[in-house]
Amino acid sequence: AHEGILRRQSARESAARTYARALPIVPVRARGLTIEGADGRRYLDCLSGAGTLALGHNHPVVLEAIRGVLDSGAPLHVLDLATPVKDAFTTELFRTLPAGLAAHARVQFCGPAGTDAVEAALKLVRAATGRSGVLAFTGAYHGMTAGALEASGGASEVRVARLPYPQDYRCPFGVGGPRGAELAARWTESLLDDPKSGVPQPAGMILEPVQGEGGVLPAPDAWLRRMRQITAARSIPLIADEVQTGVGRTGAFWAVEHSGVTPDVMVVSKAIGGSLPLAVVVYHEDLDVWQPGAHAGTFRGNQLAMAAGTATLAYVREHRLAERAADLGARMLRRLRSDLAQFACVGEVRGRGLMLGVEFVSGADFGADSVADPVMYEGAALGLGTGAGVDVDVDVDVAGLGLRAAGSVLGFGAGGMVPGFELDRVA
Ligand code: PMP
Repeated sequence: AHEGILRRQSARESAARTYARALPIVPVRARGLTIEGADGRRYLDCLSGAGTLALGHNHPVVLEAIRGVLDSGAPLHVLDLATPVKDAFTTELFRTLPAGLAAHARVQFCGPAGTDAVEAALKLVRAATGRSGVLAFTGAYHGMTAGALEASGGASEVRVARLPYPQDYRCPFGVGGPRGAELAARWTESLLDDPKSGVPQPAGMILEPVQGEGGVLPAPDAWLRRMRQITAARSIPLIADEVQTGVGRTGAFWAVEHSGVTPDVMVVSKAIGGSLPLAVVVYHEDLDVWQPGAHAGTFRGNQLAMAAGTATLAYVREHRLAERAADLGARMLRRLRSDLAQFACVGEVRGRGLMLGVEFVSGADFGADSVADPVMYEGAALGLGTGAGVDVDVDVDVAGLGLRAAGSVLGFGAGGMVPGFELDRVA
């Protein structure tokens, strides 16, 4: 069965698959961090459904919540109507929000994917400000629909000003650390304030508190606070894309909480649906300019996803799994750094909480061939992870600085948050 399924699927499915690529794994059962393949082998899943599985696979509280809806006879899909299931989800979501946002929050249910919520957020700030340009960052990833692509790194943007995202290892200013981050912040300030830059007053700024697809790059807290000051002083709404960083993964329930920054808009998806598709945008009530019908979409009322999401959010909160991710992540980071230091192909090991990445380099000619790919395949062959993560080519190209370099990053997911996970199993 294993070989036949693999052969038929690779013949019929587009080659444009991204996340797990063409790994020769045919999952048939899964529990916690473990996936069992049709070949009878067991794999340690470090990818966690691209960050959707805050509690690992098939956690009992998630299954129970889904069964609860199925057994109750409730409608499975209700468009925008209010239901007890939606009420419970919204109540639990608001309970988790950063304090500064919770008191004034509105929520908009979007299409099923993260990219739908990004789209809604961009549309909302444009409607609220009457402006159109958006500030986004090098290496950003916000999704695959047109507006989200525009705000993602590498797109041939028309209405987006691209700003440097701070990073140590490939600091575009060549200094790294707090000074590199401050220089990145000043670049942003001067772009906004210099009339010669040609950047009109933007509708908003969108950023990831930790870039995921861009290569697992945690933004320094001080830089995030500077972005908050810079945008607040100029009445520019700040959108935090927490699609990948949310629900405890980075060691705080929402990654913006590390810095104490309160965004005006938060884009949330992945883990909030407890492995089922769900995406929302949460924003300050002052931005609530939408009229009825201004933002529609059929799949915004999936009751199973809301129930699975409520159970997940409540479990992460009640069991303090964000703290656990911070603790396990710090230990894992130390361990990976010391164990991998001996390898010349390892450029940097970095991350926050259990959102971790290893950047591989291949000599002076970065990215000439990806080192992360073979490591991913070898890992799978050893039963370590479903590809053990996302392979990303990092391409830093800050306008005007002319710096371009590439490497590849192997990312790890957050399945380890779930109690019962033993760090030593990863060693
Ligand atoms: N924003 C971020 C930060 C993401 O990591 C992703 C997906 N990896 C998205 C948006 C898009 O989400 P989706 O794939 O569900 O459209």
